Amino acid sequence: MRKTNHEGPPTTKGELKDLSGELEQLRRLLVSHAAELKDENCSQQTLVAITRIVPGLTGEKWDELAAAHGLGDWMALGLDATSCANLLRLQKALEELTHQTEHDALTGLANRRAFTRHMRMEMERVERSNGQVSIAVLDIDDFKQVNDTYGHACGDEVLRVLAQVMRENIRAYDVAARIGGEEFALILPGAAALSAKALVERMLEAFRTRSFLCPPSPPFHCTFSCGVSCIRSKSLISSNKLLELADMALYEAKAHGKNRVHVARQQEASFDRSTMVHSNEKQFLFSGTE
Ligand code: GH3
Ligand code: MG
Ligand code: MG
Repeated sequence: MRKTNHEGPPTTKGELKDLSGELEQLRRLLVSHAAELKDENCSQQTLVAITRIVPGLTGEKWDELAAAHGLGDWMALGLDATSCANLLRLQKALEELTHQTEHDALTGLANRRAFTRHMRMEMERVERSNGQVSIAVLDIDDFKQVNDTYGHACGDEVLRVLAQVMRENIRAYDVAARIGGEEFALILPGAAALSAKALVERMLEAFRTRSFLCPPSPPFHCTFSCGVSCIRSKSLISSNKLLELADMALYEAKAHGKNRVHVARQQEASFDRSTMVHSNEKQFLFSGTE
């Protein structure tokens, strides 16, 4: 999968190694909608091709990739130089627009909308694969005071640095997002609550040792507080409930003096029927409805 949580819009170059993951995602999406795709003869007005321009990808290279990843049923059509250049411009414009709708302009991280979409996908994956996912909600401590003391521009720099620290400490398939003013979140697929806590504590250490300089004020340091919650397939709860648990843990971290990471307490034991996903809610969660 392309690392859309990283800085800047994706570029086509250097993405060949990620292509098979994207195709696999697309294949799964189409399979899950197969029942609706009944028109086999293009008799109605039908979308017949989904195209991605990959400069540098030769027919031979594609054959190799297709064989290695079981993608032999996908067609690869050659383009002449003019068509390729024109379509590439169009593709770049689409990538730029897609990037803007899912990323926060100040930090370059995923925005709340993208975070919600990724959460839904991860919850679905957990249900399917018997796996687990942790989420973390981070909130900068006393940030209003930072703005009041050092100025809004300096506050913006603190936000950018936290985003950078998050990016530097996540794995390729984790998602880092800015979900509110000075509130950030992480989706950590496969991570148990304690691994997630350890990861965020590394981020906290990197962030609090960072020195900010906004002349003429003397250098200063910032901290954040964080709440972590985790879900396993056998204890399926809604994404809203998972966020709520992380928020409660964050509240506890604040109440215990800030500058720390708390894990939601006794999640497993406290799961009762009221926290289970009901079938109508499941439909909402996984249907792609915002
Ligand atoms: P706590 O430790 O309890 O979290 O206190 P706090 O001061 O961090 O929280 P509070 O909610 O009182 O203040 C949040 C501040 O974040 C207020 C708002 O002006 C600031 N803020 C929100 N978005 C931005 C932004 O994009 N840039 C800057 N510089 N400040 C922002
Ligand atoms: Mg806040
Ligand atoms: Mg705050």
